[in-house]
Amino acid sequence: MNVSVYACPAYSLPDLEQALIRIFQDFGGLEKMVPAGAPVVIKPNLVSKRPPHAAATTHPAPVEALVRLLKTRTEDITFAECPGGLNTPAILEGVYKTTGMKDVALRYGVKICLDMTSERLHCPDGYVSKNVDTLSAIARAKIFFNVAKLKSHALTVMTGCAKNLFGVIPGLMKAEMHARFPDIHTFCRFVCDINRTITPTFNLLDAITVMEGNGPTGGTPKQLGALLGGTNTFAVDAAGAMLLGIDRKEIPLFQAAHDSGLFPFDTPVVVWGDSVEGLVLSDFVLPDTHSFHLFRNMPKVLQKLLRPSPSIHKKNCIGCGECVRDCPQKTISLLCTKQGKKRAKIHYKHCIRCYCCQELCPVQAVKIKRNPVSFL
Ligand code: SF4
Ligand code: SF4
Repeated sequence: MNVSVYACPAYSLPDLEQALIRIFQDFGGLEKMVPAGAPVVIKPNLVSKRPPHAAATTHPAPVEALVRLLKTRTEDITFAECPGGLNTPAILEGVYKTTGMKDVALRYGVKICLDMTSERLHCPDGYVSKNVDTLSAIARAKIFFNVAKLKSHALTVMTGCAKNLFGVIPGLMKAEMHARFPDIHTFCRFVCDINRTITPTFNLLDAITVMEGNGPTGGTPKQLGALLGGTNTFAVDAAGAMLLGIDRKEIPLFQAAHDSGLFPFDTPVVVWGDSVEGLVLSDFVLPDTHSFHLFRNMPKVLQKLLRPSPSIHKKNCIGCGECVRDCPQKTISLLCTKQGKKRAKIHYKHCIRCYCCQELCPVQAVKIKRNPVSFL
């Protein structure tokens, strides 16, 4: 499997365009992928309403560079994405605006998909699911660019192109999938099934500024300086993991891809492009949850005891109710304080440690708390 990696120290449009031209040339040229005039769908990672500098979402600059190149082939370009939580047109508009994608869309005449209807795609070889409910705009797309962000992730350790495809599932249906696949290993197998069902025409990974720590939204931006591209989601992510200095075997999604035969650990990944020597991070901070999936053979009760828990930081909580709506287990409620303010409270008995509340809290009031036993 081949992956192109080019150094891009900053979000400079001319540099990004040059890097993209070289990436596409490595794979036979954009003309080969996009017939003249063909409709194209671009799916960035717009997990929530965060500005580009927060590094929680795909930066608009590489998407703009891609749009500029695509415009030489077609005028019919659509952005399609299902952020976490409710996906009403007003919420989607807000996400596209804050993430900088609306500006790009307006400047280049790109359509934004606000129609969240879905279609059931069949996955006869699925490991844990025989179907995937997919946003119609993506389900029907003949040419589909997956433009992901390289980040740490409290649930899956790392997220890139493969995990970005979980975002083809509209709105609160994602929470249903977390409830249906409550442990990390079956959840990752489900993400593998999505990757079996949906094959992007091409994958790009924004690793110019990555996120470390308790991502995908609560971590810290970190400079890496690379743009990656390839036709296989897991191969691109494998190169991304290498740049972050993470062993693939420590990432549950790669474990699931290995177990399900989708991308065995010994799959060779050949890196084209610039030398990666100066790009590999030696001090990337993993999420606090990172080692816990390695205990997957432990009894469930011990796993539950050791696994870090979400914890509401009461002073930061603004009582917006987002976590209450999004929790797949419906195990968070809003309580009234003596001062009459609303604050979220987690009832841990039914918590499956999916960390959706941490991912979607708009003010980062949900922290990851390690159980004291796990420090022993
Ligand atoms: S924890 Fe966050 S998402 Fe939940 S109610 Fe408080 S501010 Fe809103
Ligand atoms: S409380 Fe948070 S981590 Fe627990 S099930 Fe609900 S969303 Fe997931």
